[in-house]
Amino acid sequence: MQGFRCVVCDEPVEERMSAACNWCDQRYHLNQRNDVDAKDCGQVWVDEQYMALQFACDNCLADGGSPPSRADSDRSIRRIPVRPRPAASPRRRRYTRRP
Ligand SMILES: [Zn+2]
Ligand SMILES: [Zn+2]
Repeated sequence: MQGFRCVVCDEPVEERMSAACNWCDQRYHLNQRNDVDAKDCGQVWVDEQYMALQFACDNCLADGGSPPSRADSDRSIRRIPVRPRPAASPRRRRYTRRP
């Protein structure tokens, strides 16, 4: 089975570790899991107006400086962190989960 190639860094990427950019329709690295460290070559956020997930690769983000919005007048797209990271706490790996 063929994997994809990231449009941003030109490296191979698995489907589950990537997403399709909404603007250029190409695959890019997007780590959608909390429990693994992986590359991100783009972002995902929630478009509040459409209540839909928006995906954009770094190429397209760099192009416009900010994610192009279908509602250009609305600059209030709030980016939500997909993987909230505790800012000040030391990095620890947990192998046990609480019920
Ligand atoms: Zn990449
Ligand atoms: Zn793109």
